Amino acid sequence: METNTELIIVGAGAAGLMATATAGEAAIKAITLERRHRPGLKLLLCGNNRCNISYQAQPKDMLRDYGEPLEQFLKTAINEFTSDDLRKLMAKWGLQTIANRNRIYPASEKADDVLHCFTDKIRDLEAPIVFNCPVEAITPLENGGFLVKTNKINLTAKYVLMATGGFSYPKTGSVGDGQRIAKKLGLKVEDPKPGLAGIDIKTPWLQQGEKEDVPNVAVEIFDENGRSVGMTRGNLLVEGNCLRGTAIFDATRIVARQNLQIPSFVLDLFPTQSASALSSRLGKANLAASLEKQGIPPLLSRSFAELSCKLNASEFLKQIRLEVDSIRPLKEAIVTVGGVSLDEIDPTTMEARKIPGLYFAGELADIDGPTGGYNLHAAFATARLAINAIKAKLRPEPKQKPKPTRKFTKQEPRQPAKTTKKRSSRGDRWDAPEPPPWRRRPQ
Ligand SMILES: Cc1cc2nc3c(=O)[nH]c(=O)nc-3n(C[C@H](O)[C@H](O)[C@H](O)COP(=O)(O)OP(=O)(O)OC[C@H]3O[C@@H](n4cnc5c(N)ncnc54)[C@H](O)[C@@H]3O)c2cc1C
Repeated sequence: METNTELIIVGAGAAGLMATATAGEAAIKAITLERRHRPGLKLLLCGNNRCNISYQAQPKDMLRDYGEPLEQFLKTAINEFTSDDLRKLMAKWGLQTIANRNRIYPASEKADDVLHCFTDKIRDLEAPIVFNCPVEAITPLENGGFLVKTNKINLTAKYVLMATGGFSYPKTGSVGDGQRIAKKLGLKVEDPKPGLAGIDIKTPWLQQGEKEDVPNVAVEIFDENGRSVGMTRGNLLVEGNCLRGTAIFDATRIVARQNLQIPSFVLDLFPTQSASALSSRLGKANLAASLEKQGIPPLLSRSFAELSCKLNASEFLKQIRLEVDSIRPLKEAIVTVGGVSLDEIDPTTMEARKIPGLYFAGELADIDGPTGGYNLHAAFATARLAINAIKAKLRPEPKQKPKPTRKFTKQEPRQPAKTTKKRSSRGDRWDAPEPPPWRRRPQ
């Protein structure tokens, strides 16, 4: 079977769903092909099933948080689709959102509702999605367009948007198919690495099976030469010998982005207090009890009290050097660093520079961000950008008539309309035109 259409979207994850709904609204004839039996499996896991869809910030601040090279690369995508734009669009499509310390969630705090917002919209638009349909190959055709081969059917389309995700959590369907297909097409693909991943330490602070959370710590990251390359803040989740939480996740993203081979990490358990202030608050007699008073959970308080018994406790607790055994593997990471190289993609359209008509969105490309909603936002914004670029190619806007150049602003007093000035009948002054005869007063 061979079907011809305007656009094929590969993948119905965060980027693919946004692309499908946006293409539907733009009346683009599109078919979405999804590897798994249902859409948005990773979306459902997001933010511990609460789904942190974006970060409330001005585009320039958001871009700064992605860091280079993404700060430059995502400029158009984020400026054209800000976190406010996303919230307005979601509201228009029936999903109210809330911001909690700038992290944007659905008001219900249920990832299910985000997925349903997309699937309801897609149903209303009657946009087709084919499930259990992994795309195996994409071939550019001689006269333009593409042949898309799946396990069962072949389709042709004028344009293809690939949104097959990264490599992590492969059960959700993102297994690196898109990166393999891009490589076969001759595009450069950056090696995948775990971003936002856990760390295993050599000497556990807790027994296996024990789990505790410290709400606010800082982690400083050093390269092999002992040079500080970044600092993260957030929570620390300790589970046996594994450390997770936003402070650790963001630290491992820095390691992956900067390609650090032998990184080291220093943990500050009390980033809001100086060593001397902390020292005055920690009782010497029962250190574990005073750590608990300072907000450290009980099992960790005991563990840290033991570790610091022969040391200056306040100095130790503000500079705990982590003895890293390993960074947790890619399949467990929240996000993949790496993917289709940014050099291969036009950042103003998301089109492949070497293969016109082929577009990318989301984590399949070498796009990732810190924790806080940045990854979903990047997936949504790049999908919108790609669909808008495809729409502009399919249905170019008719050229508009040039508008008059002179415009009046509110502040600027409007000049009186130009009139043909006539000599006043009352003298030689230039004056307003004479009123019509029926309004003239008798002289
Ligand atoms: C546990 C967890 C929690 C997270 N929490 C957050 C969060 O709260 N906020 C945030 O911003 N980010 C979060 N992320 C990251 C975020 O989920 C991803 O960055 C985002 O889903 C990427 O979107 P995507 O569309 O590029 O890829 P995906 O969402 O992975 O979608 C890719 C889709 O393509 C399909 N596919 C793959 N290969 C093929 C093929 N050959 N043919 C057809 N279809 C194919 C897959 O089945 C999948 O449905 C989290 C990730 C994880 C794992």
